[in-house]
Amino acid sequence: MGSRREQQLLAEIGAIVGATGVVVDADPGSRYRRDWSGDNTGLPMAVVRPRSTAEVARIVGLCAEAGIRVVPQGGHTGLVAGALPSPEGDELVVSLEWMNRIVAVDENNFSMVVEAGCVLETVRAEAAARGFVFPLALGSQGSCQIGGAIATNAGGLNVLRYGMMRDLVLGLEVVLPDGRVWSGQKALRKDNTGYDLKQLVLGSEGTLGIVTAATLKLFPAPTQVETAFLALDSADAVVRLYGHARRDLSDLLSAFELLTDTGVVHSGLANPLAQAAPCYVLLEISTSGLIDARALLEAFLASAAERGLVRDGAIATSSAQAASFWQIREMIIEKQRRQGRHLRTDISMPISAIAPFMREAEAAMAALSPDAIVLAYGHVGDGNLHFNVVPPAALDEAGKIDLLARSEERIFSILDGFGGSISAEHGVGRIKRHAFLDRISPVHRDLIGAIKHAFDPAGIMNPGRILEQTAP
Ligand SMILES: Cc1cc2nc3c(=O)[nH]c(=O)nc-3n(C[C@H](O)[C@H](O)[C@H](O)COP(=O)(O)OP(=O)(O)OC[C@H]3O[C@@H](n4cnc5c(N)ncnc54)[C@H](O)[C@@H]3O)c2cc1C
Repeated sequence: MGSRREQQLLAEIGAIVGATGVVVDADPGSRYRRDWSGDNTGLPMAVVRPRSTAEVARIVGLCAEAGIRVVPQGGHTGLVAGALPSPEGDELVVSLEWMNRIVAVDENNFSMVVEAGCVLETVRAEAAARGFVFPLALGSQGSCQIGGAIATNAGGLNVLRYGMMRDLVLGLEVVLPDGRVWSGQKALRKDNTGYDLKQLVLGSEGTLGIVTAATLKLFPAPTQVETAFLALDSADAVVRLYGHARRDLSDLLSAFELLTDTGVVHSGLANPLAQAAPCYVLLEISTSGLIDARALLEAFLASAAERGLVRDGAIATSSAQAASFWQIREMIIEKQRRQGRHLRTDISMPISAIAPFMREAEAAMAALSPDAIVLAYGHVGDGNLHFNVVPPAALDEAGKIDLLARSEERIFSILDGFGGSISAEHGVGRIKRHAFLDRISPVHRDLIGAIKHAFDPAGIMNPGRILEQTAP
């Protein structure tokens, strides 16, 4: 444990949260010290677990007085090392894990008030139990928290229908870096009274304050969900099929995922179709009305086959079969992780650029490292691709790091040519800070610097994430 100043601070915080609320010297293998990928590690000065907004405010106020840096931590599933403390042991982690209550549900307003530490899966289950859906759906939903999803403006599988977290939040409560509380806990769908502070906090990755509670939008739970696994000839065909699906499926499309054959093979799971194809689409429609979703989907697929867009396909006949289709997509992600260090990207581009981008980026990777495995999959309706690279197993760790750095640079530079974004989902954090700052104009830099300064003039809240760290 560090300086006298730090020891005194922890004693004062201990008096607020109690002995079990402060964790010092966490085990090196603990989740507070490693991120989900296992590629990055950190060392918290200590981990503090408050139980209420008032406690968070008092802790942050003490840190502000002492000039101690603070890192908000949610479910720790973020992929850009934003919630990971620095390796120097000079950042205090404030974990929201004990602030996990569902506070209230207003069924007539289609809204739910939750504490920030609620796990996304819990929120979804509570909504489902009352006949609603909270539509944010991510591979990490069993661990990630609402506060983390707000801080990263998380997206996921159903964005094309319901939007990102930014579209799903009606109100927020935030502890500011000086310990004051901003209560923007409104439950309004329309509110045009000046600057929208909550939208500044959404996606700010914990750099502007600690989210302690939120009011979320709910939607009617779909009573019919139909899922299809389709084989197509190319990424061009996938984008064309998407255009038809948007027009012909009566706005019921809730997911439209691109997979490649390399990805399906990589998942290690059986291909649901008899013959392999270059690309696949996982398509889902859902509704809660008087419409016959199954008949609509069958008619759509028959017409897509007639147009020569779809080679083959299967519509799930049970929810278990639908889950097995989705399992293929999830296993692509899980298998990458098990293979160790790899390049994860979460890029976006205009939907019309997906196929030409993939052609150019695949050719570039073949030239750079013919033995690397390219795993491209993504949310077509959001123009969002995960264009990931698994390095050849024969390369040593230094060789892998070098290849992945060069691959990322090449992929990002091709993306620049299509007017894309280097992060559609995971955010900037510490890992993508340089790539982000190198791509924005001086005007953009000035504006985001001024916003950070307005919220956090002392620079203690999640320093070095998104923007460069400033003194102290
Ligand atoms: C398997 C897997 C699948 C994923 N799929 C998707 C996906 O489909 N779409 C997508 O968008 N993302 C996805 N993600 C990444 C995504 O960013 C996180 O899963 C989630 O949004 C982060 O929530 P968390 O609670 O784990 O936050 P953490 O990882 O704990 O934190 C993330 C950032 O938010 C800050 N933060 C956390 N809590 C708070 C708070 N209460 N107040 C202020 N700041 C806070 C942290 O400081 C950090 O900068 C995936 C991750 C994994 C591991």
